[in-house]
Amino acid sequence: MRRQRRVKIIATLGPASPDEAAIERLFEAGADVFRINMSHSTPDQMREMVHMIRAVERTQGRPIAALVDLQGPKLRIGTFEQDMVRLEKGGTFVLDSDPAPGNGERVHVPHPEVLASLERGHRLLLDDGRIRLAIVDTSPGRVMTEVEVGGKLTARKGLNLPDTVIAMPALTPKDYKDLEAALDADIDWVALSFIQRPEDIAAAKKITRGRAGVMAKIEKPQAVGWLTDIIEAADALMVARGDLGVEMPLERVPGVQKQITRAARRAGKPVVVATQMLESMIASPMPTRAEVSDVATAIFEGVDAVMLSAESASGQFPVEAVGTMNRIAEAVERDPTYRSVIHAQRTDPERTGADAIAAAARQIAETLDLSAVVSWTSSGSTAYRVARERPDMSIVVISPKEEIARRLALVWGVHCIVGEDAQDQDDMVDRACRTAFAEGFARAGDRIIIVAGLPLGMPGATNMVQIAYVGGESAL
Ligand code: PEP
Repeated sequence: MRRQRRVKIIATLGPASPDEAAIERLFEAGADVFRINMSHSTPDQMREMVHMIRAVERTQGRPIAALVDLQGPKLRIGTFEQDMVRLEKGGTFVLDSDPAPGNGERVHVPHPEVLASLERGHRLLLDDGRIRLAIVDTSPGRVMTEVEVGGKLTARKGLNLPDTVIAMPALTPKDYKDLEAALDADIDWVALSFIQRPEDIAAAKKITRGRAGVMAKIEKPQAVGWLTDIIEAADALMVARGDLGVEMPLERVPGVQKQITRAARRAGKPVVVATQMLESMIASPMPTRAEVSDVATAIFEGVDAVMLSAESASGQFPVEAVGTMNRIAEAVERDPTYRSVIHAQRTDPERTGADAIAAAARQIAETLDLSAVVSWTSSGSTAYRVARERPDMSIVVISPKEEIARRLALVWGVHCIVGEDAQDQDDMVDRACRTAFAEGFARAGDRIIIVAGLPLGMPGATNMVQIAYVGGESAL
């Protein structure tokens, strides 16, 4: 089984995809990675979903990645004496540390570190940004605000702070428990929500210790400010447009999306564009023209993956949503403008042996119109560097490690298979040719280019390219 596209598709699991058969249908429609959102799942439900993903993987014979998305420090206000209060523009409203139910004048904020971090002039957004307050006065455990945009407010609504760096770690006690459970379940990627600084990623990496890739969700303006360092610290990035669009003006999100995707591509770190990509398909079997265009824009930017949230997790048409994304991807990548747009954003290789080899392999393959780049990798690093080049031909990767093959399911253009390390260079070339043929990436008589690090099994030692003829069926 091979996909006819390079960009990958992430489908979030939920009540709309409750069993193995449903997950298998999503995989067959085009999902390469399954996301489990810990804002809506218990550790037991997560374990069950990972178990089902692994069962589908065995049936389908292809590595599939499981991505666990931690809830992070999602801030919420407390409760009210009545069902609802109404805040009027120009009025005042207090947020404080008193746990008593609130009213039209005040409400509890059950996060002391938030109250301690707020300063005069900072904005507070409530209920997905529908209500906006500006701080006019602060005292210990209390802030007084002026209502800039009013409206109805009910208990436990979300609170976003676009101007405030909160002295609070990105991992909450719930995140620590969920992360341990996810690592025990052998997941492949973990996504960190509401990170603000590179230190937040370092804290998670102390726990993951390489057992899962760490994906930084960029959904706060503070994280955009630290983008370069966050990209360096993380293994992958997500443009989490849901909360990003609350914390910054919506019209700035497309520009920030481009900034993040370009910087991630330059660094060779996988980047995902997420949220509301096919939102109308939650309730309709057909997307809107604008949604199709949004998915296409991300694919033209050369992102590694596009993501579905409620469309596949709780919508009425999960399989149709994945199938629609798959069709958009295939059509965009066949479009005559696609290659030139992707190439225009290519940046020079970094001054490392691995990048020099990856760039040379891509150039040789394109000059000689070779059928595939076949890369041997134990840590995955050669595959990431080859993918960074966004070559015109497919990237077939052979890794002895199942967990690396699964992780690479997220990466642009990579078709990974699990195979034992080669005995020597001849064996490596022979098996690269046979794999490219057997997996449908080369025909008899085609040539491929092989990229590897010798001796095999030494991570980060990419130092070899070789052109080889594919023998065909007789060689199998
Ligand atoms: C987002 O905010 O865009 C996002 C992907 O995160 P979540 O779905 O957890 O809100």
